[in-house]
Parts: sequence; C-alpha cells; structure tokens
Amino acid sequence: MFAHMNQNLFVYNTLTHKKEKFIPLHPPLVGMYVCGPTVYSDAHLGNCRTYVSFDLIFRYLTHLGYKVRYVRNITDAGHLEGDAGDEGEDKISKKAKLAQLEPMEIVQKYTVGFHEVMQLFNILPPSIEPTATGNIIEQIGLVKIILEKGYAYEVDGSVYFDVEKYSKTQDYGILSGRNLEDMLNNTRALGGQQEKHGKLDFALWIKAKPEHLMKWPSPWGVGFPGWHLECSAMSNKFLGHQFDIHGGGIDLVPTHHTNEIAQNIACCGENPARYWIHTNMLTVNGQKMSKSLGNSFLPHELFSGDHSILKKGYSPMTVRFFMLQANYRSTLDFGNEAMEASEKGFKRLMNSFGLIDNLKVSGTTDIEVGPLLERCYEAMNDDFNSPVLIAELFEASRIVNSVYDGKLKIDAANLELLKGLMNTFILDILGLKNEQAANDDLPKILDLIVTLRNEAKTNHDYATSDKIRNGLQKIGIQLNDGKEGTNWSKI
Ligand code: AMP
Ligand code: ZN
Repeated sequence: MFAHMNQNLFVYNTLTHKKEKFIPLHPPLVGMYVCGPTVYSDAHLGNCRTYVSFDLIFRYLTHLGYKVRYVRNITDAGHLEGDAGDEGEDKISKKAKLAQLEPMEIVQKYTVGFHEVMQLFNILPPSIEPTATGNIIEQIGLVKIILEKGYAYEVDGSVYFDVEKYSKTQDYGILSGRNLEDMLNNTRALGGQQEKHGKLDFALWIKAKPEHLMKWPSPWGVGFPGWHLECSAMSNKFLGHQFDIHGGGIDLVPTHHTNEIAQNIACCGENPARYWIHTNMLTVNGQKMSKSLGNSFLPHELFSGDHSILKKGYSPMTVRFFMLQANYRSTLDFGNEAMEASEKGFKRLMNSFGLIDNLKVSGTTDIEVGPLLERCYEAMNDDFNSPVLIAELFEASRIVNSVYDGKLKIDAANLELLKGLMNTFILDILGLKNEQAANDDLPKILDLIVTLRNEAKTNHDYATSDKIRNGLQKIGIQLNDGKEGTNWSKI
C-alpha cells in the first residue's frame, strides 16, 4: 500500500565487497537468478534458510513495485559428489542405483518434497523453475561458443574450461577476492586431472562412462554437462546476457559462481549479474549444516521434534521467524534455546497483531505512526535488514498492546497507518502467517459445527445434518456419532 520504486534500496554486492544502491538495468523489470536445489535428497534446514532469505528479497522487491522475474532452477543432472571439482558420481544417478529406481523417479520424488517444504515455509514459487535436463541443448550451445572463442579445449570426449588462458585477460577470482597464485597453491588435485591442462580448469562437458545413467549425445560424444554450466545456460536463456541479481549460498562463491562468471564472460563478454547476493550458512554448534557432515535437520524433524538434540517441535512459521531474526549475511546457529526464544517472540508479535481490529479509536492521538513506518523501510532498504525490521515491528506491537489496555490513545488516521504497516511488513514482506490461530481454534470451531448439526437433527432437518457431515468429510474431517454424542477426527 505504500510502495515506491524510488526507495533508496542498498544491497551488499559480493562482487564489489560493499553495499551499493540498487539500480536495475531495465526498471520496473528486475531479473533475479538463484541456484536451486540438487534434488537427490530431502532439502535440509540450511537449504531452506537460503530460500527463505531470497523469498524475503523477492517479496520486498515486488512490494517496492518492481516486476521481478525470479528464476530458481532445479539441478537434476551434472552435480557430482565432489562439489568443488569434477570427481565422483552424479549425486542423482548414485541415489537411483542405490534405490534401484530411474534417476527421474529420484528427481520427481525430491522435487515434489522440495515444493511441499517451500510451501510449508510460505516461500513463494519462483516465476520460472527450469531444470538442467530440460536445457541440455542450451548447455551444448554454450560449450560450442566457449570452444569457438578459444577458452576451452576438448580431450577424449570431455571439454574443459581453460582458466589459464582466461586469466590472461580476466580476473578469475573476481568474486572470491582470491588471486590466482593462492588458488593454484590451495587447490588439491581433482577429477579429470590427467586430461586437464591446468589445475584450476573445470569440466564443461564430461564424457560418460558406459555405466553412467544420465547422458546425452553431443558433438564430442555421449556425455553430460558440468554442474556450473547449467546455471550459465539457464540464466542466459531466461534473463539475458546480463541481469540484475544472482544469488545463492555463500559456499557457492569460490567454485560454482566463480566458474559461472568465467563461462559467461568467455561466451558473452559480460559478467551475467550486476549484483551478486550471498546468504550465510545455518550452523549447528558453529559448524555448517550439511548432509555430508551428518549434522543436518530435515524440516519435518523440526516440526515434529523427532530429533535427538531437540526438546520439542516447532511450527514452520516459528522456524521462518527464527531465520528472519538474523541478517541473511550473518551465520545463524541452530539450537533449542534460540528456537524457544523465537517461538515466544513470534507468539507475542502475532498476538498483538491479532488485536489490531479491536482497538478503540480516539479523537486525539498519543502516537504518530509515520516515523515508525519510515524506520521499517529504512531497515529493509539497508540490505534487507530483517532483524532491525522485526525490532521495529515489536515497537508496533507494544503500541497495539498499550492502546488495547487503554494506556495510549490513537486516532483513526494513525490506526489505519498502523494496520497497513503491520499487514504489509508482517504478512507481505516477512511472509509470516498466523498459523497458531487456525490450529488453536479448530476444536472450538468444530464443537460449534457439531452443536449446530445436532440441532438440525433434533429438528428432523436431516438434509442439513448430512450436508454438514459430507462437507466436513470432503475437507478431511470425519464425524463419528456414538452413544456419548458426536466426536470428530482427522481422516
Ligand atoms: P544444494 O541442494 O546442495 O545444491 O544447495 C542448495 C542451496 O542451499 C545452495 O544455495 C547452498 O549454498 C545452500 N546451502 C547449503 N547448505 C547451507 C546451510 N547450511 N545454510 C544455508 N544455506 C545452505
Ligand atoms: Zn547455480
């Protein structure tokens, strides 16, 4: 309701290592590409943190009036076990072999699961969700161009990017801030080493061994694309040579995003994105949450509390609130105490938000909401600073409580502004919703419906009583008539 595009939004750009004013290439359009999940297992909470952070960014840009084309891919081929290099098996093929399933069955299962989790966290779907396997032709096209431009070479059916050649004219470490010497000294020998001309070279196309499951014909023989290539190809296809924002977790900076930039520059002469935004890691006892370290939590374990280090379960919105209470660029350590504090805070905020429609309007006002609204925008304009925004929303909640208790007066204009502020920032921008009310009130609502149905039966109005029973059944609630009366259960 208050949006203006000429807001002074500043974002931290990994590429320049500073906060910069956000100026889109073609306002009001904004192009944003975020690296999506590799769908070989359930997304863990760390992955979810990254997508919650970009959801906040997507929501805020949209609120400001930008028309955002948000592309978040699904990696369903080409991501090998050794994340940093070209070694190991394809993660999806390996899982498929173990489970004796088709790789695409694995992809389908975990893509559906990923969408369910995104929905639980109230993460909006992206505008386009392309897959690596759906864009093989585009990836082969990029390899051809990079070869033509002389930045790649073919060895026995595989194609590698020539980092040494590229580094003669370009800064390969531009994103990570590392220099070539350091990178060369600190890189251990990885897959394909015998074939590669240089230690830092990486695969664009990999020759498939006969037992490899996911492979495609190409000018260099049967093989599959390197992981970094898919994001260059898909961002290029859907957002153009250059677009506004490219994002992902900070762990993607040294290799995946570094190589993506090299591929795009080699092929199109341009760094694909003006602003590179990276989210920091969710940690457990200070260590990055990751599947390979064995310290990862699955969202449903957190919701149910079914995990050895958890004392109880927490609702999806509590978890979302917990994540938003930290700046996306800070690490966030996961633990019982932090979760309990977030649960209390979230309830406090939502309880006062729930009172806002019952406030009494006065002829005079003790409160001016305008400055508070400005501070909310200042927080978000300062690189999407959600913890500062949440602190301001607690100020709004204190005002609501004081007016409710009759300790402060508010006039109609300020009350309207306060309502708009809370609706906009809590629901639209932070993407929180009041799940508590719906869950807590369900038994009361059902008791009322059962009473009404009993009255209908007493009045011999069986049409109405059946309508109620059938209607509830359709939405998954079973009424059971017994000697003691009627009770209900979820089907
Ligand atoms: P993956 O499915 O492994 O390709 O990862 C999907 C996204 O989650 C990437 O952007 C990663 O950077 C991000 N990610 C992985 N682990 C964490 C973590 N512990 N905290 C935050 N983001 C993470
Ligand atoms: Zn990517």
